[in-house]
Amino acid sequence: MKLLIKNGRVIDPSSNIDDTLDILIEKGKIVNIKSKIEDKQAKIIDATRLIVAPGFIDMHVHLREPGREDKETIESGSKAAARGGFTTICCMPNTDPVNDNRGVTEYIISEARRKAIVNIYPIAAISIGSKGKELTDMVDLKEAGAIAFSDDGQPILDSNLMRRALEYSKLIDTPIIDHCEDKFLSQNGVMNEGFYSYLFGLAGIPSAAEEIMIARDLILAEKTGARLHIAHISTKGSVEYLKMAKEKGVRVTAEVTPHHLILADSCLETYDTNLKVNPPLRSKSDIMALRNALKEGIIDVIATDHAPHTEDEKNVEFDFAPFGINGLETAVSLILDQCVNSGIISIQKCIELFSTNPALILGLKSKGKIQIGADADITILNLHKEIVIDKNKFQSKSRNTPFHGWKLKGTPVMTIVDGKIVWDER
Ligand SMILES: [Zn+2]
Repeated sequence: MKLLIKNGRVIDPSSNIDDTLDILIEKGKIVNIKSKIEDKQAKIIDATRLIVAPGFIDMHVHLREPGREDKETIESGSKAAARGGFTTICCMPNTDPVNDNRGVTEYIISEARRKAIVNIYPIAAISIGSKGKELTDMVDLKEAGAIAFSDDGQPILDSNLMRRALEYSKLIDTPIIDHCEDKFLSQNGVMNEGFYSYLFGLAGIPSAAEEIMIARDLILAEKTGARLHIAHISTKGSVEYLKMAKEKGVRVTAEVTPHHLILADSCLETYDTNLKVNPPLRSKSDIMALRNALKEGIIDVIATDHAPHTEDEKNVEFDFAPFGINGLETAVSLILDQCVNSGIISIQKCIELFSTNPALILGLKSKGKIQIGADADITILNLHKEIVIDKNKFQSKSRNTPFHGWKLKGTPVMTIVDGKIVWDER
């Protein structure tokens, strides 16, 4: 079936396109882009007053399958992604069992093929069981379909292991994604260390816990020449180290989550466990630094760190609740409202952060662009539509969001994957 998207404002940062254009899609590919296309056999999508963007890619998602299918499955996570405007997601390996061998990687890929409505690429573990002791067989995992390597949820504490991981990853030209946290500094902290942790009587996680690991990783990335991607950057200091390394030519990229761009540690006065996240929500000055880093291109990607948890697990005292925010279905609307419509970043920059750059980092050559011959993965946005976030409408199996009830302007309205409409809320 052919699709013809008509009269949309097509924005593709990879080719500097920003124009009213028609797009013809056939057999999963973009086959024509022109100011006027007629095709009697094609199904017409009227995109007047809408933004037509290359499909959004979330490179940091926790799907919980195998092991915790009560929180999320490959199928439910893919529906949440489609509803949230994402055409491609990458799933972190901290499942049960951990994705540290070919069997788990192949299971995820085959389940995704059978049940998912968006593209899913597994990220495999750096170390066996993500225990930080012994490297996985990265060459074999890459052959099986792993798109990157990470022990996310856990840092690589052992600097020698990190060095060797970077060296191997360079041989197979695959990025290493690090969750930067010095556990000796973060200990049993549950929120950002500072004025508010003392005020609320909660154990703090200092910004140094993140910054020390980032600084170490940057040194190792420079020495090895490997590609390093820093997950969920959250502090002003981290941004400064990142900027310095980029200026020196280190092959480093970084992502930030919507919640770290929007929520400050002061909001924890409610003790809402849906605000408990790792790294923790930081101070207002950290938020300002992160927002500036987006504008200046120091941060490359917005990723959700979608971390579904059941209500029972979150419905406990703050100290005992698991870390994590359910992000797939709120991220794009939050960024459109809080960053684009409020004038912090342009819509072009937003698309770069959600699509162009993650595709480049992950080496997805036919994604992240609207060009003839590219995959027909498209995200359509309405910058004017007002929505209210309702966790009860989530396609995700979990509801752990601190944004329930937020009124936002700007939202994804249609998701097209491989030339098929997988979500339509126009
Ligand atoms: Zn993490």
